[in-house]
Amino acid sequence: MPDVTPIPLAQLTTLRTGGVPERMIDAHTTDELVDALREVWADGEPLLVLGGGSNLFVGDEPYDGTVVRVLTRGIERYAAPRPGHVRLRVQAGHDWDDLVAYAVAEGLAGIEAMSGIPGTVGAAPVQNIGAYGQEIVQSLVEVKLIDEAGGDVTTVPADELGLGFRTSVFKHHYGSAPARSAVILSVTLELEDVGHTARAIAGEQLRTALGLGVDDVVSLAWIRDHVLSTRARKGMVLDDEDPDTYSAGSFFQNAIVSAAFARTLPRDCPRWPMSPELDPVMVIPLEAFNGYVPPRTPLDPDVKVSAAWLIEHAGVGKGFRLSRSSRAGLSTKHALALTNRGGASAAEIAQLARFIQGRVQSEFGLVLQPEPVLVGVEL
Ligand SMILES: Cc1cc2nc3c(=O)[nH]c(=O)nc-3n(C[C@H](O)[C@H](O)[C@H](O)COP(=O)(O)OP(=O)(O)OC[C@H]3O[C@@H](n4cnc5c(N)ncnc54)[C@H](O)[C@@H]3O)c2cc1C
Repeated sequence: MPDVTPIPLAQLTTLRTGGVPERMIDAHTTDELVDALREVWADGEPLLVLGGGSNLFVGDEPYDGTVVRVLTRGIERYAAPRPGHVRLRVQAGHDWDDLVAYAVAEGLAGIEAMSGIPGTVGAAPVQNIGAYGQEIVQSLVEVKLIDEAGGDVTTVPADELGLGFRTSVFKHHYGSAPARSAVILSVTLELEDVGHTARAIAGEQLRTALGLGVDDVVSLAWIRDHVLSTRARKGMVLDDEDPDTYSAGSFFQNAIVSAAFARTLPRDCPRWPMSPELDPVMVIPLEAFNGYVPPRTPLDPDVKVSAAWLIEHAGVGKGFRLSRSSRAGLSTKHALALTNRGGASAAEIAQLARFIQGRVQSEFGLVLQPEPVLVGVEL
């Protein structure tokens, strides 16, 4: 088993917190990864699967278990059954942005708007990563995974993964266990082979972010360059020189509330209706059934509201710190990113997060939920 000398998690997570774990295993091949997982699961030891550490908030106490680092790499390209499309099978430890760069260089469309998102390909389905209207669910075909229950390796189609807004069956949402305890070994995407010529952009969110009109035509490479520079201006591309990027990205999720609750919020709070849901089950008692099935009525759809707006309008502006000497603060570029200004403990960051939750709750009556996975730390 490729055991290595454990490295402090503060050096392996982008929020730069976390002590030295008890044990660390580096898995460079799928076989090493599968063997490591089976061994740790059989021993019943606590397990932390670590990709790029960019969606984790780890506590200060040493992690009392085994950290398995997913370091597998590789992209295989093959024909897709759909004409004009290509499939890519990518190892879980492959760097996500390296994959996007590869796809753009090959003229393959479908993930270019997600340029610059840190982390690994295997972690991308865990919270169904997305940016500017593109999400991995739109191009994901299937994943190869190993389940904790039984230790079997299987291939699971994307529509069985519960992919939704920053969620899936794999995600450890704060305060709850994932629906499926499994580790992704590889990911298969289907992308459109569009080449390098300029085309119009279908997505309104991406057009708005890049300042483009409906008739403007641009290439995939142009989109990638402009997404990267737009994200960099917000501190959303990792940069060792810029403490505004010492974060886990958005620390709080945009809140999803009922339409009735959304009406109680100030009118200028940005909001987006979720797609209307149909009542999933309609029961017609057999004795009352006369051959007529009434049309199903859509329910009042839930509404997604801007967490950044709620934070700023609760009086917590960009760059906010609890005291001048605090080493934890909001990014000076983005109200949703809690940042480690240098040497902050997890306790300091947690204190800031609780303060923000408290301000938003007392001002607007809702509790913001953290987006990163919390390990050994509570809010
Ligand atoms: C500056 C910055 C900007 C960001 N911008 C965005 C954005 O625009 N959109 C967005 O969606 N996210 C964004 N994020 C969040 C983050 O980059 C993504 O969630 C990313 O997919 C995490 O990948 P990772 O490899 O770093 O995962 P890690 O942080 O290592 O792990 C996250 C979780 O996934 C689990 N995990 C890791 N690998 C696997 C695997 N192979 N199988 C099963 N479980 C696994 C871990 O155990 C953990 O629970 C941003 C983060 C930062 C720091």
